[in-house]
Amino acid sequence: MSIARFWRATPQRYNLGASKCTVCQQVYFPPRTVCPNCTHHRESIGKMQPLQLSGDGEVISYTIVHDAAEGFEMQVPYVLALVRTDEGPVLTGAVVDVSPSEVTIGLRVRATFRKLREEGKAGVIHYGYKFAPRETAPAPGAPPTG
Ligand SMILES: [Zn+2]
Repeated sequence: MSIARFWRATPQRYNLGASKCTVCQQVYFPPRTVCPNCTHHRESIGKMQPLQLSGDGEVISYTIVHDAAEGFEMQVPYVLALVRTDEGPVLTGAVVDVSPSEVTIGLRVRATFRKLREEGKAGVIHYGYKFAPRETAPAPGAPPTG
């Protein structure tokens, strides 16, 4: 699959496009066409709006991965984290630009687009979001570093 096709196939990987239910304000990523919260009342039909996630969020859980999957050999060990975005949806992604030992629950991060992996001899490179520390804006109540 070419990079262009990859982008077209998964646009939300590129732009963090989500959707928001204007009835109950719930935000969904990947975007949904109807709101599960409101479906039983059929209220959300036609009331879902596109929403661009800021990419800012906070680590709520993480694990340090030592065993790389095929195509990820260059990246171990790395931190795979659950990040709750400021808009609400929880994303899964690698945390980069920080030592795995420095990643903590509550760490403020920002999505950044990075190379995810190379595929086979053709060298097809897939890009997607990863998270990097957002050191300029520590969250209130975040545990002290160091
Ligand atoms: Zn709803």
